[in-house]
Amino acid sequence: MGRYIGSVCRLCRRENLKIFLKGDRCYSDKCAFDRRGYVPGQHGQRRRKFSDYGIQLREKQKVKRMYGLLEGQFHGLLNKAERARGITGTNLLIFLERRLDNVVFRLGFTDSRAQGRQFVRHDHFTVNSKKMNVPSHLVKVGDVIEVREKSRKIAVISDAMDAVVRRGIPAWLELSKEHFRGTVKAYPTREELTMPVQEQLIVELYSK
Ligand code: SF4
Repeated sequence: MGRYIGSVCRLCRRENLKIFLKGDRCYSDKCAFDRRGYVPGQHGQRRRKFSDYGIQLREKQKVKRMYGLLEGQFHGLLNKAERARGITGTNLLIFLERRLDNVVFRLGFTDSRAQGRQFVRHDHFTVNSKKMNVPSHLVKVGDVIEVREKSRKIAVISDAMDAVVRRGIPAWLELSKEHFRGTVKAYPTREELTMPVQEQLIVELYSK
């Protein structure tokens, strides 16, 4: 399966938003978006006017890149969101948040979602005491996510857990730092998802 291997900072600049894809660096003065907050490329500093389609497309690309998904995975989740009860756009964002790679990032076990995905694949976590190495696994209310005993000494994980205070743990998750354990207390509500996203534009894009 293909994956994006270019500079992730270009993605922030392309979407005109700090997407926080690089952990520590995003909070430092080395952040490429803070230094060059315009679209990459030769004509990046030109003023652009987008069509309706262009606006919808950019919104979709922004969310897809935020969660590090490929087109097929993203479309699959959107189909699932359409079938679920409630508002499709909100359902989509909640499904994205429930992915295990996002949850370990939100709990502060990793510094970014990309690192979360890698660490999940490398068997560093359990869900309800069972090994789980599928980043797209959707957690449920009551699920307990733990760093495996053998992985608790990994410096990257403990550093990330120390650094998480700067972004905080969302209210729908609970962290027991001393036990390297997180619990899903509830599904997030739309109000709790504070990233600047207009999800209805994404739904409109796919409904064409
Ligand atoms: Fe985006 Fe800045 Fe982080 Fe690079 S360092 S991924 S530009 S927020």
